[in-house]
Amino acid sequence: MKVSIKDNLSKKMLLWYDKNKRDLPWRKSKKDLNPYQTWISEIMLQQTTVEAVIPYFHKFTAKWPTIKKLSESNIEEIMDAWSGLGYYSRAKNIHKAAKIITKEYNDQIPNNYDELIKLPGIGPYTAGAILTIAYDKKASVIDSNIERIILRIQGIKKPKDKVKKELIKISEELCPDIRSGDYVQAMMDLGSAICKPNNPKCNLCPIKKFCYSYKNNLTNLIPIKKTRKPIKIRKARLFWIVSNQNRIFLRRRPLTGLLPGMLEFPSSDWIIKSKESKKEILFPIKGNWKPITGNVMHTFSHFQLSLKIYICRDVNEKKLEGIWKKENDIPNLHLPSLMKKVYKHVFSNTNN
Ligand code: SF4
Repeated sequence: MKVSIKDNLSKKMLLWYDKNKRDLPWRKSKKDLNPYQTWISEIMLQQTTVEAVIPYFHKFTAKWPTIKKLSESNIEEIMDAWSGLGYYSRAKNIHKAAKIITKEYNDQIPNNYDELIKLPGIGPYTAGAILTIAYDKKASVIDSNIERIILRIQGIKKPKDKVKKELIKISEELCPDIRSGDYVQAMMDLGSAICKPNNPKCNLCPIKKFCYSYKNNLTNLIPIKKTRKPIKIRKARLFWIVSNQNRIFLRRRPLTGLLPGMLEFPSSDWIIKSKESKKEILFPIKGNWKPITGNVMHTFSHFQLSLKIYICRDVNEKKLEGIWKKENDIPNLHLPSLMKKVYKHVFSNTNN
């Protein structure tokens, strides 16, 4: 890449950013930069929209204002605070990393790539984001927005998976030595507001004169779209158990696997559709079990889950080990989105 293009592009981006930057709670002026908040926000923003992250970010950083406080918390509390945000391994990794940072780095997030990348949950993207945004150091940062912009300005007509190394190299080359953090956030904002996946608003784009796709009318063809594999469906039975004191049974999921450590209504194993259909139902307790109309569908990153719910009433609470909650208290619990859906489904399809 020619130096002049690199410098001019970053200059244009920074001018645009100064006028158009989004006001986000984790964005600070240079003197107030807080690597802890940058780290938490960047982890929360993986796979999750800015709008969804904002209230979680406020609550999380109010409850744990420092890495030290976070490292002293227990994993169940963190999982509860994360409930509804999804991709729960992120929360587990934050907890593990906070303990390491407290113990080995005196509560300071490392400011070099090699140390950052060793921490749980910090990959090349997050390491680059922390270095640029929190420490104002030049680095490669590729999120989905930046990736799309680079593919378009460079006119790269190959699927993005085939050009990963090239993208990393270009992103580092484009990153300026001064105001690296602002430049990276400018690119993120441009991708979100202007260089959108479909129908980018090129007439408003500050870097259109550097853009190959714009000049060659390729903006709707680049990035090259991959044909999606059909998503796998898993099925399971979920057991809604009501006690003779009108309380509902919940339990905590194991700390490994999906939704680790989160509260749930018990269910059978989530297994692939074709293997499930003829299986006998193993209810967790004897009783008068009845199916509830309809199914609850929920999409995880790599499969879709279809839950058939069965209800049993008048159960003796002593017969099951777990947590019993009054129906009215359930909406106030920290439940993952799937379990919130289950709750809504039961209450709209029964007389509860
Ligand atoms: S000109 Fe259009 S396609 Fe090119 S970077 Fe700007 S918004 Fe994206």
